[in-house]
Amino acid sequence: MVAHNIPYSSCLSVETLLKWGQLIEVQILNYISEASVFTLLKDFLLITFIFRWSSKIFNQLYGYGIFGTIKWLYTSSVRSFYKRLLQFPPLKRKVDAEVRATTEVLETELIQAPPTTTYSTLPSTGLSEQEVLSKLDDLNKIHASDWKSGRLSGAVYHGGEELISLQTKAFEKYAVSNQLHPDCFPGVRQMESEVVSMVLKLFNAPSDTGCGTTTSGGTESLLLACLSAREKARVEKGITEPEIIAPSTIHAAVFKAAKYFKMNLKLVDLDSNYQVDIKQVKRLINKNTCLLMGSAPNFPHGIIDDISSLSQLATKHDIPLHVDCCLGSFVIAYYSKSFHIDLPPFDFRLPGVTSISCDTHKYGFAPKGSSIIMYRSQNYRKYQYYVSTDWIGGLYGSPTLAGSRPGALTVGAWATLIYMGDNGYIQQCQDIVMTSMKLKQAIKDIPELDVIGDPVLSVVSFKSDKLNVHKLGDLLSKRGWHLSSLQNPPALHLAATRLSVPVIDELISDIKECVKIAVESGEDIKSDTAQLYGVANSLSTGSVADRLIEVFLDTLYKTGKSQ
Ligand SMILES: *Cc1c(COP(=O)(O)O)cnc(C)c1O
Repeated sequence: MVAHNIPYSSCLSVETLLKWGQLIEVQILNYISEASVFTLLKDFLLITFIFRWSSKIFNQLYGYGIFGTIKWLYTSSVRSFYKRLLQFPPLKRKVDAEVRATTEVLETELIQAPPTTTYSTLPSTGLSEQEVLSKLDDLNKIHASDWKSGRLSGAVYHGGEELISLQTKAFEKYAVSNQLHPDCFPGVRQMESEVVSMVLKLFNAPSDTGCGTTTSGGTESLLLACLSAREKARVEKGITEPEIIAPSTIHAAVFKAAKYFKMNLKLVDLDSNYQVDIKQVKRLINKNTCLLMGSAPNFPHGIIDDISSLSQLATKHDIPLHVDCCLGSFVIAYYSKSFHIDLPPFDFRLPGVTSISCDTHKYGFAPKGSSIIMYRSQNYRKYQYYVSTDWIGGLYGSPTLAGSRPGALTVGAWATLIYMGDNGYIQQCQDIVMTSMKLKQAIKDIPELDVIGDPVLSVVSFKSDKLNVHKLGDLLSKRGWHLSSLQNPPALHLAATRLSVPVIDELISDIKECVKIAVESGEDIKSDTAQLYGVANSLSTGSVADRLIEVFLDTLYKTGKSQ
């Protein structure tokens, strides 16, 4: 007899089920009446423990699949094994020596003797204005990556000399202002509210409920988006082990938020278009999920995630969705007005989108230290606020991470926005996007290189199966070009800015020449970048790379000696 011929009712009749139910009930009652309070408590704790762990394991297996989980287990255990192994004295001495050697190289590269007196302690008598100004000029003469020539990816989002002069004047007028004291600086309060409102309009926030705050930069905007999602989930849903689901291309600031705010970051793989894999997002959603995230576009590849599908999931499961438009900023906001082509929707027009971050200090050309975090309504924004009624220093409330805030920066942003106007941003958007698309086409025509995904905004990244792109990056560095290095897969990218516009043809011809060199003498090319990424990506030496980054950060705070 074949199994499927057995009628269901003959296997498990309703009566059998009821009988079992009664039997179990009796057992439980017996157990409760006979066990001591201590045993009951012990068993309760054991059962909760087993339940928690089994649901964690289930979520992991369901979200990442068996192979994904095995791979994750393998890499994390091998990594931690090597990390411990490298603590053994003989090996540790070797690593320490390597780190010291790198420190010396970094110090000679980074700490350049200024052609003027250095001050590691205060001068006992203050200097005159003239002296200070002349020292500023001296310090400006230290040889550096020449950003003015436009041979740099991102970094300097220049809005033109005239604008810089205007920003400087605006700063001077409001140099002492502090947003913590709106009573002293009512004009700054007005300007901050207007900057937020102007940017909300650009991202189609609901006109009656949309709201936001200014912040010190994209990182703070993302920290606040994560914090408010965590608090909302805690207060409204009682979630105590909050999880963020975000594509693996999400900005590093989200990793930082997860670390600072003790949230679990569940990274999602990319699909064949290098967008977030929606199927995996679906599998990763569980009762602890407090935030979904996507980028428009992401930093590494300049690709816009499928925000529509994320929005559908967010609405279906009633989970907030943050869209990181820090980089996209005014380029994505002005794209359709500039080219009369609609992008797939990415902003508050999608009902599931609850927050968006936009860096006014990137393609908004505001002075550095300026970004906006926006929310669909006050029901999201209120969770980023800090309020305290029992501080001895008085009733206290602050909307963002900082306490005192530099009003002058907000004034600088406001002045920039109204100086540029729609027409200014449309012009910039056209120039910048046309420049990056020219690069994209040129890279497509180089057989050794492959453009990653199909970027349409300001960032183009490329990889190669035929040569080591990090070596290619170093060859370009020798010609003064500083593209960003990416990993997994190794790649390079250019975030085109206004400064790249006039030099893009030169970059393209240098890339072509350097590709030739890299192909012809691949093995012979010495490359620090290729070596460093080799160290970082190997399971055995990954922890050494962590130390090298710390050394780099330490080096930033060494005062150096004058010439
Ligand atoms: C630049 C950027 C950020 C934030 O970076 P900050 O340096 O803190 O301004 C966030 N997301 C993306 C995609 C970015 O490119």
